Order: sequence, then structure tokens, then C-alpha cells
Amino acid sequence: MMHWFFLGFPVVYASVLPSFQPSSLVSGLQDSENQLAFFSQGLKVDQHYLDPFPSQKGDGGDSNNGTFPTLARRYVYETTAPKSTVWQGVNGVQWDQWSQDVVVKAWALMMEMAVKAPSDLTDLTPSGPSYQLFQSQTTSDGICQAMMKDPTRSTPAYLLCYRTFIAANNYAYGQLFGADPENIDFIIANFERIDTELENLQSTGGTNPGADGFIRAGNLLYLTMGPTLHALNGANICDGGTQAFAVVATGTQEFSANQYVSADAWIIHFCPAFFQLPRMERQLWDLQQGGVPKETICNLNNLDSTARALLHEVTHLPWVLNTNYYQSDPEKYGFYTATSYATDAGGNQATHTKSFSSRNADSYAWMAVYNFWNSVKECQGIKYTGTNQAAAGCNTDVWPSTPDVNGRLYPKLVKNQWNNYVKGN
Ligand SMILES: [Zn+2]
Repeated sequence: MMHWFFLGFPVVYASVLPSFQPSSLVSGLQDSENQLAFFSQGLKVDQHYLDPFPSQKGDGGDSNNGTFPTLARRYVYETTAPKSTVWQGVNGVQWDQWSQDVVVKAWALMMEMAVKAPSDLTDLTPSGPSYQLFQSQTTSDGICQAMMKDPTRSTPAYLLCYRTFIAANNYAYGQLFGADPENIDFIIANFERIDTELENLQSTGGTNPGADGFIRAGNLLYLTMGPTLHALNGANICDGGTQAFAVVATGTQEFSANQYVSADAWIIHFCPAFFQLPRMERQLWDLQQGGVPKETICNLNNLDSTARALLHEVTHLPWVLNTNYYQSDPEKYGFYTATSYATDAGGNQATHTKSFSSRNADSYAWMAVYNFWNSVKECQGIKYTGTNQAAAGCNTDVWPSTPDVNGRLYPKLVKNQWNNYVKGN
């Protein structure tokens, strides 16, 4: 059962927790319960942490036996905090260290996913090794002779072949962005923008509210947490299970009343539901430890995380991608729903990438999650076994082959092969 809310902000992500979690997430859930107790008891941490990251070395120490994948090991043992963080208090709620830790790790993993996604896609562009290898092997192939014969890379035959190649080599872009060959450069650029724009956040320090935090072009990005933050109309934006949201600071009662808050300052607010989400660092840790079957972890149904939610939110920031800004682009949440809107599911496989997916926050977030986990070494051997499965021997695919907690099975919507391609969909 999922409840989705659209509260009139361009920037709300909301869901309720699945009732099932891998057993090894129990301790994480207990942490969440403690966090809820923190709220219900009205406890407050009244001091700012001068050093918010005194010890963020992860859950397992530094030992490893060399069998962990480099990719995953980094995230479990090392956490790179943003250089500085606002940790702005609001409504009497100050950041506590546990909550900071959740956000810091989510931030690091979010950035890693956002960096990896365009890197993997670039390999599929004409300058990439995989593209060139594919092209060299397709000279005698009927359809894909177009890869060689069309130096303009623009004919429908070429694009059809290219799309097939993309879909077979990047399942995540294939589903969430319809394997659209005409849009791959645009989506690459947008992912790169997430990386560069957020890396450019700087700290200058100072005495104004939040001045020890993220600053871009003189404007702050506040990170706030707590069970309440109010829109100008008085609505509590955390109501209804909202996990987190990005909102212009002056669009909230609390910040609009502060004379020091710039009109261009933004907030990413973390509601209690955010802290109940599964944590990607824990998923990676469990996978490395082997205590939870990889069939359980390497499954998109079980791979939602705080990192996914944060990646979703940062795409909303106006200087990043400004996703879902227009009311004509209502958000679509979840990997399946986002994909179905991207691909005109059940129809002729025309895509709406240009008009929908490239503006939808969760399309980026889930594309990055899906892309990341397909590359995790411990997930090797996981295959999607339903309709539109890849050819035997193809790469890891964590698209769920089993129903979700509500018994719903999500078929893969984008086929691996097409009979034709219509430009400009
Ligand atoms: Zn959103």
C-alpha cells in the first residue's frame, strides 16, 4: 500500500514504509524507532555540533579480506561528508548526531550514484569503448549495418540499432529513460550537472543563521530536520508520511520570518519518515557480510534508500535540474510508475523521455539506483526472469523477478528489441 501526496509544492516525495524489511535491517529499524522516540519525548539537542563528523568510519572497521568489491567497500568503510553542512535547527529541533550520520552517508552514496550513472552512459556514446566495439561487430548484421553506414547518426535505422544497443547495455537507462538514443547526451549532461553543481557548494562560515553551511553563489542551502515545517498556508509539509522535500526557504513560515534568509535560499528538509527508510550503506554492508541472500538485496523492490530519496530531492533544486517545476509535470514516484510514464507502456514503445522523464525527479533517482546495483560485484548472477529479460549470459539485472510486499509484480516495460523507431518521441 503506497500513499502518494502532492501538496502543491513542486518538490515533495512521500511514501510509507514497506511492511517487510530484510531481517538484517532490524538494527537499523531499531535506530529509527529510537529516532521516533526522540521526537515523541520532545527531547532536544540544544547545541550545534562544532565538529559534526568526529567519527564517521562506518560500521565494520577497516579490515577486509580483499574479496569485497572495491565499489562497495568504499561506502561501508569510508564516508565522505559534505565539506560543511548547515544542520540548521528549526522548530526547536536541532540535529542530533545519529540523524547527521544518516544524512552524511546518504549524501556520499547519492553523489557516488550520480557520478556513476553518466560515466556508464558515456561508454555507450560514439566515443565510448563499448560503442566502438559494438559497431565493429555489427557490420554483417542486418539492422545494425546502419551503425556503420550512417555517419550522420540520425536515420531511423541507425537510431533503432543504437537504441537496441543502449537497452541491452544499460538496463537502467533502458527502462527509466526508454533507451532513447536521441536523449542520451542530454541525460548524461544532467547527471553530470548533479555532480558539478553540488560539488560547487562551498562553506564560508560566519555568524548568520546557517552560515556554516552550503553556499552557492551567496545563497544558502539549509538542511533541516524534524516532524514539522510549515508552508506559508500553514500546512505541515511533513504530514502524510512525506520523507523529505526541497523548498525555497521563504516558502516556509519558519524561514520567511527570518530577515537574514535570502530570497534565493533553499531548504532540504528531512521528515521523520526519511529516517525510517532503508539505508544503502547497510544494504551494501549486508551484501558483503553475506548474512542476507543476494537474491533478497539485489532486487529493486528492496533497494529504496535514504540515498535514493536525497538524490530525488537534489534534482529539484533550481540550480541543479529544477525537476518537476511545472504543474503540467506532476511527479511520478517509484521505478515502475516512472518507467511506465517514460515508455508509454503497453503501447508502441514510444517514449516520453523528452517531455516527461527528463523532468521527473524519481526517474533520475531510480535510474541511478538501478544502474549502481547492476554493477555491484556481489549481485552478479542475479537475472531478471520475466518478460523482456535479457539474453542469457548478459549482465546482472536487479529488476525484480518477484512480487513486491503488496504482491504486485512489475514487468519490465522496455523491450530489448524494437521493430521500428520513430524519431522525436
Ligand atoms: Zn519530488
